[in-house]
Amino acid sequence: MNDIKKVNVMVQKYDAIIIGGGSGGLSYAERAASYGVKCLLIEKDKLGGTCVNVGCVPKKVMWNAANIAHTFDDAKGYGFSFEGPSFSWSTLKAKRDQYIHNIVNWYNESYMPNAGVDVIHGAAKFVDNKTVEVNGEQYSAETIVISTGGYPLRLDVPGTEYGITSDEFFDLEEAPKRVAVVGAGYIAVELAQLLSALGSKTELLCRGDMVLRHFDSYITEHLYEELMKDEHLTLHPRSNVQEVIKNADGSLTVRTERETLEVDLLVWAIGRGYNTHNIGLENTDVPVNPDGTITVDKYQATNVEGVYALGDIIGGKYQLTPVAIAAGRRLADRLHNGMTDRHLEYHNIPSIVFSHPPIGTTGLTEKEAIAEYGQAAITCYTTSFTAMYSSFSDKPVKTAMKMVCAGEEEKIVGIHLIGPSVDEMLQGFAVAVKMGARKQDFDDTVALHPTAAEELVTMR
Ligand SMILES: Cc1cc2nc3c(=O)[nH]c(=O)nc-3n(C[C@H](O)[C@H](O)[C@H](O)COP(=O)(O)OP(=O)(O)OC[C@H]3O[C@@H](n4cnc5c(N)ncnc54)[C@H](O)[C@@H]3O)c2cc1C
Repeated sequence: MNDIKKVNVMVQKYDAIIIGGGSGGLSYAERAASYGVKCLLIEKDKLGGTCVNVGCVPKKVMWNAANIAHTFDDAKGYGFSFEGPSFSWSTLKAKRDQYIHNIVNWYNESYMPNAGVDVIHGAAKFVDNKTVEVNGEQYSAETIVISTGGYPLRLDVPGTEYGITSDEFFDLEEAPKRVAVVGAGYIAVELAQLLSALGSKTELLCRGDMVLRHFDSYITEHLYEELMKDEHLTLHPRSNVQEVIKNADGSLTVRTERETLEVDLLVWAIGRGYNTHNIGLENTDVPVNPDGTITVDKYQATNVEGVYALGDIIGGKYQLTPVAIAAGRRLADRLHNGMTDRHLEYHNIPSIVFSHPPIGTTGLTEKEAIAEYGQAAITCYTTSFTAMYSSFSDKPVKTAMKMVCAGEEEKIVGIHLIGPSVDEMLQGFAVAVKMGARKQDFDDTVALHPTAAEELVTMR
């Protein structure tokens, strides 16, 4: 239904309008403006979007804290002795909030103004294919970029409102004593493990047999071992939450078909929806898919000339900040700097799960490689070991690595890692995979010793 009419309103003109000031929108706007494009960026909440405000950044701060908590076990193994350390969640939260506040301020006061991008705070709605309304004013442009991202979903069960999502997780002033995290994706795993490391008795409930089921099974088997060792965390596979009841003392009763749990907090981490339902797309010719995503071609173009979409709202497997950034910058390069074929290739994209220990992956899993190249063409190399650093810890964790190679030349089509420091290890290897490295290239590279990373160039 058209609830906005383009009549008797002065329409202000820009070269490009960007709806959504998250990772993708900011990056497109900054790059486009650097080519002299007159840009208007509209953001309904805080600049920086999900990543900066309720995603990667606050999550990584909490993961760092959890990692430090694990380091105390390592320190004891190295001969240090100390009284069990105490941790103040609220102290860290205050510092984390300030850190994020500073980033957002910088976006508002330096990044966008210095780039020459006009920013309006308000919720944008399409009036038609070329016109957008915000705060009662209308703006038009030949290029409109939709980068409105997503939002966390809740399970549709009685009492769902008693749970929180990842958005509200970052508002918590204190750690819950007992918590249930519901979900099987990377956000569920990350939140559950950091809560457990920071002292919460944690129940991780997932519908299937295991979390991260799209990851290479070699990696999830090793993650499973680590989850089983965690005395503060219990994995509840095949658990469908059926009801959440709020008790008189504020605690929650979580009922699945198999058991009943008492917790102080429940976090829904079951997936994300897409911000396409409330941006007036019904006033345009851009169709929205049943799952809320927008279909684009390899150039981020929708079916309507001049309207592009990028970042999380195009859906798919790579809903990550660097992907949104890369797509935004490449789109600006192509549209406004004559780089006619510039686009993002949505494969060989590395990603990290900030679990304990972290997981790093790029390219195809063994299963995906077999589906693409056939069983006979695939050779996998694996190794699993306790790295020297961890060998001395009171609570050692294992490292596991898998390399998936295709064809006679053994082109590396996938690398999958779990272990301490793989989050910092993978980036360089991802470059090699992207460049088409073969197993022989890795074999020909001299190792760095003694490191865990050297195992990747000495696999047999
Ligand atoms: C808990 C969590 C942890 C994560 N951790 C990582 C990680 O470690 N690494 C990683 O790479 N990725 C991570 N991500 C994913 C990452 O945050 C997203 O992939 C990324 O933010 C997507 O960028 P985007 O530009 O598509 O959307 P967003 O960053 O979500 O930005 C969209 C913006 O559009 C605005 N908007 C929506 N509707 C309107 C409207 N009508 N008018 C104006 N503005 C509007 C929103 O307010 C928002 O600011 C995490 C996500 C979550 C939730």
